[in-house]
Amino acid sequence: MSDPTRVRYAPSPTGRQHVGGARTALFNWAWARRRGGRFILRIEDTDRERSTRGYEEALLDGLRWLGLDWDEGPDVGGDFGPYRQSERGARHLELAERLLSEGLAYRCFCPSERLAALREDQQARKQTPAYDRRCAALPAEESAARAAAGEPFAVRFRVPEGETRFRDRVRGEVVFQNAEVDDWIMVRTGGPPTYNFAATCDDADMGIDLVLRGEEHLVNTPKQVLLYRALGLEPPEFGHLPLMLGADGKKLSKRTGDTALEDYRDRGYPPEAVFNFLCLQGWALDGETEVFSVEELVGSFDPAQVSKGGAVFDLDKFDWLAGEYIRADSPERLAERCLPFLLRAGLASEEELRSRWDWVVRAVASAQERIGLYSELPGKIGYLLAADEEVPFDPKAAKNARKHEGFAELLAEYAEWVGPRLEAGEDPEVLSEATKEWVGERGRKIPALFQPLRCALSGQPGGPDLFEIMGLLGPARVLSRIERGVARLRGGAEG
Ligand code: GLU
Repeated sequence: MSDPTRVRYAPSPTGRQHVGGARTALFNWAWARRRGGRFILRIEDTDRERSTRGYEEALLDGLRWLGLDWDEGPDVGGDFGPYRQSERGARHLELAERLLSEGLAYRCFCPSERLAALREDQQARKQTPAYDRRCAALPAEESAARAAAGEPFAVRFRVPEGETRFRDRVRGEVVFQNAEVDDWIMVRTGGPPTYNFAATCDDADMGIDLVLRGEEHLVNTPKQVLLYRALGLEPPEFGHLPLMLGADGKKLSKRTGDTALEDYRDRGYPPEAVFNFLCLQGWALDGETEVFSVEELVGSFDPAQVSKGGAVFDLDKFDWLAGEYIRADSPERLAERCLPFLLRAGLASEEELRSRWDWVVRAVASAQERIGLYSELPGKIGYLLAADEEVPFDPKAAKNARKHEGFAELLAEYAEWVGPRLEAGEDPEVLSEATKEWVGERGRKIPALFQPLRCALSGQPGGPDLFEIMGLLGPARVLSRIERGVARLRGGAEG
């Protein structure tokens, strides 16, 4: 049996985690878990100016939030470290030296002005910009002498003639003509190695056997395959995941949806919904089932089933999935998940909420059916947490209440009737039936009581069952709210 697979996710900590990157991480993770292999996290931080530890930490946090874990990485270590690319510089230089000494790479002393002029000229002639190989023929001694004299240079890979083939698990066999591949730069004097060079050295040294990443890297793959061969190694398998497209059919951008993973977290999407949705960007469980568990993914994911075509980031479906996960959650966990949003909305302190957690869970459950994102919860249960004198009245709720003639008298009379029943802890269903009878006996229709009552208790035009609300508020607050509500609605000063 061959060794267990080794796959990696190799983000650059130069910005916020893109959802496309998160999907790459997720598919690599799923494949490693399915195959009993290793999932490796490598931080590609060679761009010293743009990489920050803050971005790196946020990246790791985002992946953990999605539910991913890794077997090797900068925080957990492993046998193939270091896992920050910037710490592997000596090895990169060693390999560059080796290729130079074998003539598989060469020093290029062309100044940047010459390269810029070359590029402009090629563009003017509608040619693909490429290095003209002026330094490729420099005799080895001359090249070494100029380097020794301190002349700055870049090390370029000497692309051989012929064609380059590789196996892509998503696309099948891919062929590139080497003539289309530039003699690309591996490293410059005093500078960091380029992405293609460092990533390939690291993939080789870390024993990666499948490189699964976004389609935007397909153009890099022939360079990397050629480098593997130059190093005397068999290239790994590759897999290029389709681009994520916005609703306009173009590459997903800020215009058509948030592109940063943490924006979805901050807007209150359940991580399971994000996980599920990202899986649907290029993969399907069976072509029908849209909601599936992590276990189902791990049980059947294969990069070979990923589609080649672009995946449309359908925000409506995303929102629908979020709602599905929220409704399926247990009230206890939902309350935990919503807690940060309640705190952020300033509705209560964590201490206060924790001191009556069972009640909070019930309050959250009362709104579970009516929220699509965690962030919608404060707006739905804020009235339960507000002080009785501070319940805001929605204008529509107030209007619904006032349209019933004699609503104030009816409410006041109801308060007297319902108070003792609430005190006695009457069952909400029994109370509901009895209330309806009570209204009927007074020759009134149900809404004549219910609409003013709902406004007084919650200030909202809709919401959970009134008797559930009364149970959550308790007798004293129900009576206080009815009393205040009557006064406010009568006064008519507010909405
Ligand atoms: N650091 C590269 C990126 O973030 C990694 C690409 C790759 O997976 O090879 O795009």
